[in-house]
Amino acid sequence: MALAEILNRVRAAERTAGRSDGSVTLIAVSKVQPADRVERVLAEGHRVFGENYVQEAAGKWPAWRDSFGPLELHMIGPLQTNKAKLAIDLFDAIHTLDRPSLAQKLAGLQQARGSLPRLFIQVNTGEEPQKAGVLPADLSAFLRDCQAMDLSPVGLMCIPPEGEDSAPHFALLARMAADHGLTGLSMGMSGDFESAIAHGATHIRVGSAIFGARTYSPA
Ligand SMILES: *Cc1c(COP(=O)(O)O)cnc(C)c1O
Repeated sequence: MALAEILNRVRAAERTAGRSDGSVTLIAVSKVQPADRVERVLAEGHRVFGENYVQEAAGKWPAWRDSFGPLELHMIGPLQTNKAKLAIDLFDAIHTLDRPSLAQKLAGLQQARGSLPRLFIQVNTGEEPQKAGVLPADLSAFLRDCQAMDLSPVGLMCIPPEGEDSAPHFALLARMAADHGLTGLSMGMSGDFESAIAHGATHIRVGSAIFGARTYSPA
């Protein structure tokens, strides 16, 4: 079964990197996967999942939480400000805090309810114009703005440019996190999670290697 194989590879990568067993959290990315594939992985005991679309996640996870018990849900896709309220009620972590307007929105929601999911700041390490994320040069200022709003992000997240070696991006993200005293590192996907673990990833986001290819990819 794919989940067991991926978990074995994660443990092996932790050991190779001299890291303790379980220091890496495997987020099973279930976006647009058929329900039976997700239920198989739930039945095998996995309890940490990632989704990209708030509406899609809101449509399927409450029922799975009811039938399978406590589980941890991570928002890893771009978050529209008008979906932030729904998102914080559903998710345990948001990996895509990527702009001041979203920070402001989340800060307001935090004041109203007293808490927020754990926050990761998405960094556009490849400085790609079409990609979301704070530019590396802007991270310090963005973190100061977050702190002024009483937000305390726990880590950084990146999606390296497609078709490029991701290792330098992982190294850059790890260095930026260390420079700012942040302990969370959300990086690594199906094709490169072992390299991400070698570079210090605390959260890897693996979809197709666990569930199989996604049957379609919405825009
Ligand atoms: C879809 C997605 C993943 C999982 O990608 P795979 O290549 O299927 O492992 C990871 N991170 C983000 C941000 C994604 O959108």
